[in-house]
Amino acid sequence: MYSKTPLIFEQSKKGQIGASLPKLDVPEFALSSVIPDSLLRAIPAELPEVSEPEVVRHYTNLSVKNHHVDRDFYPLGSCTMKYNPKINDVISGLPGFAGLHPLQSDESAQGALKIIWELEQMLINITGMERVTLQPSAGAQGEFVGILMMKKYHESKNEDRKYIIIPETAHGTNPASIVFSGYLTRQVATDERGRVDIYDLKAKLDSDVAGMMLTQPNTLGLFEDRIEEISTLVHEVGGLMYMDGANLNALIGIVRPADMGFDITHINLHKTFSTPHGGGGPGSGPIAVAEELTPFLPTPMVKKEDEKYCWDYEYPQSIGPIHGFYGNFSILVRAWAFIKTMGESGLIAMTKQAVLNANYLKSLLEEKYHIPFSEGTLHEFVISGTKQKERGIRVLDIAKSLLDYGYHAPTIYFPINVPEAMMIEPTESETKQTLDNFANTLLEIDKRIDTESDTLIEAPEKTPVKRLDETKANRELNLRWTK
Ligand SMILES: *Cc1c(COP(=O)(O)O)cnc(C)c1O
Repeated sequence: MYSKTPLIFEQSKKGQIGASLPKLDVPEFALSSVIPDSLLRAIPAELPEVSEPEVVRHYTNLSVKNHHVDRDFYPLGSCTMKYNPKINDVISGLPGFAGLHPLQSDESAQGALKIIWELEQMLINITGMERVTLQPSAGAQGEFVGILMMKKYHESKNEDRKYIIIPETAHGTNPASIVFSGYLTRQVATDERGRVDIYDLKAKLDSDVAGMMLTQPNTLGLFEDRIEEISTLVHEVGGLMYMDGANLNALIGIVRPADMGFDITHINLHKTFSTPHGGGGPGSGPIAVAEELTPFLPTPMVKKEDEKYCWDYEYPQSIGPIHGFYGNFSILVRAWAFIKTMGESGLIAMTKQAVLNANYLKSLLEEKYHIPFSEGTLHEFVISGTKQKERGIRVLDIAKSLLDYGYHAPTIYFPINVPEAMMIEPTESETKQTLDNFANTLLEIDKRIDTESDTLIEAPEKTPVKRLDETKANRELNLRWTK
C-alpha cells in the first residue's frame, strides 16, 4: 500500500504563520483603486497556514519519494540523465535573465539577445550547419519543425513527396513527427551489425521519398558507419537527411552532422547541455539546418548588426513561429553557460568519457547478460535479457528490482528489434565506483534468479509504490487520490 503523506492543505492550522511581515509604514489603500474589480478575487485564496520548517520538510520529503539524478545513478537509455552542474541553474536564475519580460524592446534586452546569438554560433560550430533556431521546446517539437521545413523545401520546388524513411530502431517520436507533418513512414530494416540495411534502403528509395530520419548514433548506441553512402543515396533521389541528434553526447567535438551529409538536425539541450529534465519540465530542442533550408526557418531569428542584436522577421518563406515568444529562454542560458564553462577541450573530454563509461560498464556485464549488437558501442548499449527470461525472470522484473537498490531503472523494451531489451546509458558524469556498484547489483540480481526469483517477481519492495498493475493503470487511468 501507498504510505500517504498529508497534503500541505491538510497540515494547515488556522493562525499558523511561516513568515512575519513588518508593520505597515505606508498609507493603506484599497486594491480595487489600482486593479479593476473584475481581476480581483471575490473569495480570498485558501492558502495553507503552516510554519516555515513544515513547508521545508514537506517538500524535502516529497522530493525523495521519487527517483532523481541528485539522489542516485539514473542510467536511462536514450534520455541522457546526466548530472547538471548547479551553477548553470544559478546563472539562469539571475534577476537580469529571470526577470526579463518577453515584450521588452530589443535595446533593453541586448544581453539576452546576445546569449541567443552566441548559443546559435556555438551550435553552428558543433553541428557544422548554417543556422539554428532555438525556439522548439523539446526534441519532439524540434523534429516536427524540422519535418515541416523539409516539407516547405519540397513544396518550394513544386514537389509533392509522400514518404520519410525511418529505421526500425527509431525513437517513437520520429514516426509521430512524420505523421503529424502529413507524411507517411517507410521502414527500413536493420542488418546483422545493428546498422541500416543498405540493400533494403536501396529498395525503398524513389522519387516519392521526401527524406530519411536517422538517429546517429542509433538507438542501439552504434555509429551508422556507412552514413556517407546512406546520405548520398538519399540525396540522389532528391530526399533530405534528418538527424535525430538526441544522442549528440556521443559525437560532440569528434564528428559534425553536416559533415556526414545531414541537412537538418535537432539537438536536445536538456539532454546534452545541462538542464535537469524528466517529469515533463521545460526543455529545448533547437533545429540546425544546412544553407538550402534557411529560408524556411521559424521566425523570429536573432540578427547582429553593428555590434547590436535584434529580432529578424525577414523570412518570407518561413514556416512561421512555433513557440510563444522565443522558446524556453532559461534553458538556453543554461546551455550557453555549460558550453562556456566546458570549452572546446572540455566538450571533447565529455564525449570521450561518455563513450568510455558505456564501454566499461558493458564489459562488466557481458559475461552474464547477452548483448546482441555489441561491436562499436558508443555512449549506450542494449542488453537482451534472454538468458534471464529462460530462467523465468523478465527484464521488467530486473528493472523493478533495481529500484530496491536505489537506482532508476534503465529504459526497457526499446528498441523494439531487441527482445527483452534493456538500454543503459551511464553518461560521462559517473565515477568508476558508481559504475562498479551498479554492475555488481545487476550481477547480484542475475544470481538471485536461481535462489529467490519470487522476490524479484514482486519487486519493488522498498519504494512508496509497490509493483503496479500496469495494464490496469493504462486502461483505467485515475490520477485522484482516494482514501
Ligand atoms: C529523447 C529523444 C527524443 C525526443 O526528445 P524530447 O526532448 O524528449 O521530446 C527523440 N529521439 C531520441 C533518440 C531521444 O532519445
